[in-house]
Amino acid sequence: MSKSPTERTRVKRMHENAKYDTALIHAILDAQPMCTVGYSFKGLPYVTPTLQWREGNHIYWHGSAASRMLEACEETQVCVNVTIFDGMVMARSAFEHSCNYRSVMAFGTAHKVIHRDDKEARLKSMVETLFPGRWDMLRPMKEKELKATTILGLELNEVSAKVRSGPPIDDTDDYALPIWAGVIPLQTVALQAVDDPRLIAGLVVPDHVAKFKIG
Ligand SMILES: Cc1cc2nc3c(=O)[nH]c(=O)nc-3n(C[C@H](O)[C@H](O)[C@H](O)COP(=O)(O)OP(=O)(O)OC[C@H]3O[C@@H](n4cnc5c(N)ncnc54)[C@H](O)[C@@H]3O)c2cc1C
Repeated sequence: MSKSPTERTRVKRMHENAKYDTALIHAILDAQPMCTVGYSFKGLPYVTPTLQWREGNHIYWHGSAASRMLEACEETQVCVNVTIFDGMVMARSAFEHSCNYRSVMAFGTAHKVIHRDDKEARLKSMVETLFPGRWDMLRPMKEKELKATTILGLELNEVSAKVRSGPPIDDTDDYALPIWAGVIPLQTVALQAVDDPRLIAGLVVPDHVAKFKIG
């Protein structure tokens, strides 16, 4: 399924790289938990990196109830970006250098998750989205921890993706030049997990840790 672009989400620069396919947009959001949230605070622009997770047609992010970013975003217009940086594209001219990436921009009004049970369900979903099977292994949340946490959601109604892949695109004449060109692929890789020095002896690394990956 694909959503029609709005005036705000219609990609103009390199519009051939625009994607509005819902499955692709979801796949990018699911592959990269880090996002940046753009908002205005006292008339000035801020872009704050944080974690996001998706449930159906919503993304969520959370933090301290004292967070300025969360307070400033509540019930107001925000722009959330998620980017997977896939490669450096090296052309035969400086001008044609580029990047390979999968990127999503979502716009809308951020809403606060109010009810206690909804908050707990969203937090469980965050943990389970990142680390399937972990929630039930954890010490249950304390009421004061739930109270100290703010969760914001954004419905994915106004969203664009932009994707570039493949080799450089050079001017026709430049292909004859003796200059190395190609792509340096980039990937975020999870290395072997490191035990907490205070870990109780004999505990094994759970599957959701050993199999964790990103991108
Ligand atoms: C890793 C990386 C490196 C990049 N490097 C450069 C660079 O060096 N120079 C450069 O000019 N651009 C770069 N881009 C592309 C950049 O994100 C913008 O698409 C570009 O600058 C055009 O911006 P604009 O406001 O003119 O876009 P417009 O086409 O006017 O934007 C209109 C609408 O298109 C959508 N849109 C635009 N860009 C994106 C995007 N990246 N992802 C999802 N939706 C989008 C949004 O909905 C936006 O509101 C890079 C992107 C990535 C992810």
